[in-house]
Amino acid sequence: MKALLLVNPASGREKVNKLVKVAKRKFEEKKYHLDVYFSKCAGDLTEKALKWAGDYDTYIVCGGDGTINEVVNGVMQSDVRPNIAVMPVGTVNDISHILGMSRNIGKNLDVIFNNKPIPTDINKINDHYFVYVSGAGYLTEVSYEADRLEKKKYGSLAYLKTGIKGLKKKPFFTAKIECNGEVYIEQVSLLLILSANQFGGMRLPFFAPQGKLNDSLVDIRVFSGRNIWLIFRLVMFILLLGRKQYKQYHVATSKATITPLDTDNVKWNADGELVATGKIKLEVIPSAINFYVNPKRVKKLY
Ligand SMILES: [Mg+2]
Repeated sequence: MKALLLVNPASGREKVNKLVKVAKRKFEEKKYHLDVYFSKCAGDLTEKALKWAGDYDTYIVCGGDGTINEVVNGVMQSDVRPNIAVMPVGTVNDISHILGMSRNIGKNLDVIFNNKPIPTDINKINDHYFVYVSGAGYLTEVSYEADRLEKKKYGSLAYLKTGIKGLKKKPFFTAKIECNGEVYIEQVSLLLILSANQFGGMRLPFFAPQGKLNDSLVDIRVFSGRNIWLIFRLVMFILLLGRKQYKQYHVATSKATITPLDTDNVKWNADGELVATGKIKLEVIPSAINFYVNPKRVKKLY
């Protein structure tokens, strides 16, 4: 194995240095090759992941969801695509939770050393790739507006605070959704696109009970209603573990075009970052990148 550890140092210097030290030692024991690169600024890892794609068979990404998203966007632009392993540090780690990758470095490396990586779908909004979640409207608009420092300090409380702020902003719109040969007009308060049954640290096993990370499909769910009714729907969404509620729009698709009809200002979030405004083309790229996955999670996910 010839691996490159791509590190986001913003995740905490001390923690990261310790992790690098342990990883180096474990790779030496196995007589595998490991290089280490520290990200210099936002977007740097996209550029480097593309540039060095031919030089390594594996990228180990040390950071949160945003860091993984950066690396994925670089790898997807390359014809040769290294395998990806994720090592969670930082605040938002949905992707590593989904894949069952541990915060314990030893356990994490055991998964990498003892298992084959698995071909996994990657999704695309316009020209931006994402791994597991995209959306527009209430909560999505506020999540990337939540101040990064605040996120670090208060964790999910920062989301709650911005969530309440978001109620006043009313990011409601009418959307034309074209997919699977049909056209729907929907009133949208929140539109969620998920490729796994998890979002914001919550397990939602009934969101798409048949959904897999390699079925070339993502699931789209629309929440309508406002204020108390919207909050009620969202609380029920969590309590019902993602189940579709009465008269809700839900579809599984490999391709969709979503056009906001009454505003140009709809902002789309993907893996926690702002990636597009207005009309979007959504597409699933089947089995695009091989990911290392905890063997205990494989049967459920693939
Ligand atoms: Mg899928």
